[in-house]
Amino acid sequence: MVVIKTNVNCYQCYQAVDKTETLVVLSKGLQKLYQCANCYKKNKPQGRFEQRKSFYCEKCKYKFSSKKPLCPYCNSSERLTKSNITVYDLIG
Ligand SMILES: [Zn+2]
Ligand SMILES: [Zn+2]
Repeated sequence: MVVIKTNVNCYQCYQAVDKTETLVVLSKGLQKLYQCANCYKKNKPQGRFEQRKSFYCEKCKYKFSSKKPLCPYCNSSERLTKSNITVYDLIG
């Protein structure tokens, strides 16, 4: 038996790629959109967490990360300093 390689065109870079190495990004009846592995890698979302900044409240001695520079304890920004911890430290 002969395995026939089916090439499809990536809908983004228009390159002909082996069907088995693509992802179907849209399947609507007979219409299908394929995406090659390269484009998939390029478009992969780079982590969808919100950009938070790290702060340190000297008054409460409390480290936190927030989008707003406001201590959740004393509800003020008076004694806030930017902390060096990054969002990666918080996740890790
Ligand atoms: Zn592509
Ligand atoms: Zn505080």
